[in-house]
Amino acid sequence: MWIPTLESKATQGWGTQAGYNDTMIFETFPVGPLQCNCTILGDEQAAEAIVIDPGDEIARIHRRLTELGLKLKQILITHAHIDHVGGALKLKRLTGAPILLNENDLPLLKMMDEQAGWVGIATPETAPPDAGLTDGQRVGLEAYPAQVIHTPGHTQGSVCLHFAPMKLLIAGDTLFAGSIGRTDLPGGDSEQIIDSIQSRLLALPDETKVLPGHGPGTTIGSERRGNPYLRTR
Ligand SMILES: [Zn+2]
Repeated sequence: MWIPTLESKATQGWGTQAGYNDTMIFETFPVGPLQCNCTILGDEQAAEAIVIDPGDEIARIHRRLTELGLKLKQILITHAHIDHVGGALKLKRLTGAPILLNENDLPLLKMMDEQAGWVGIATPETAPPDAGLTDGQRVGLEAYPAQVIHTPGHTQGSVCLHFAPMKLLIAGDTLFAGSIGRTDLPGGDSEQIIDSIQSRLLALPDETKVLPGHGPGTTIGSERRGNPYLRTR
């Protein structure tokens, strides 16, 4: 969950992650009323993909996968807020791909009626995940693996996905460009989110690109230097 205060458009420039290699497909686009950044990461050669945070606009995501000729292998959820997980079951039904979510967010998943009320939208149908996302777990595609980093604070089950070979972090709602995730919703903890970011995310190399759950991309280095929420320690 995130309430946008700025025009949350600026994932431009992330289009294809050009230059990494020729067979990687990388598309990020905001979905739903809260404009959650949804990502399709595909391997053209293997004709496989993962989708991260399909919060809404599932027909569009599914159409894109079909256009690209990619079989969906995993649906990865950074945390169980409605704007990130709301479309996951629909996408699973269309593709057969399993949903992965950290088990500490199961209580939030069960609060979907209440979450829908916060946003003022209809309650999406959800189901328990097919598997967990635990710290250190390897997920993603054979060619583009990611390591799960458990970063509680925004929610207790919040995770980031670190694609080390690509120098890329998918940050969910833990770290934003110039900001951090809100902690005033159930399961939020303001000291814990700072600790998660300081101890786990700022441990990554400065050149690591960061794609937050909303709004523009950034890097670990520029957040280390300029993020006002991370200066006090
Ligand atoms: Zn959230």
